[in-house]
Amino acid sequence: MSLWSLASNASVWRGYDYYKQGKVVSYEMLSDGVYEGYIQGSTDDPYHTVIDVEHPRKSHCNCPFAEGRRVICKHMVALLFTVFPKEADAFMDAVEESEKEEEFWRQEHYKELEHFVKGLKKDELQRELLIALIELEERDGRYW
Ligand SMILES: [Zn+2]
Repeated sequence: MSLWSLASNASVWRGYDYYKQGKVVSYEMLSDGVYEGYIQGSTDDPYHTVIDVEHPRKSHCNCPFAEGRRVICKHMVALLFTVFPKEADAFMDAVEESEKEEEFWRQEHYKELEHFVKGLKKDELQRELLIALIELEERDGRYW
């Protein structure tokens, strides 16, 4: 499991932004797969972050979100992406992949809807249209 895949969606995106904005001030390798870095956050002092690539849950950071908790924060993600830009690429690939998949299922769903509508008789069609129009109005809070 890659470190970023254990983070919340918001943390990965914020971490990705930090990586792109070059917020990782410095980093060094402590041992195999373990990296220490300083990441500029919203406060004056950068956060101190240590990531363990092999055991992501052992990573830690002194930011309010992650301190004393076994969670993956945006600073860890930013450090990971800075040390391993290929991980950032993998994240973007995964985002694109899921968007493509979503689009595929949306198209499939539209085909099903089209098939359903084409199979209706006139009176069924009128009833379904009426229901759909009423639902639309209720959703928009419009009545006339
Ligand atoms: Zn943090």
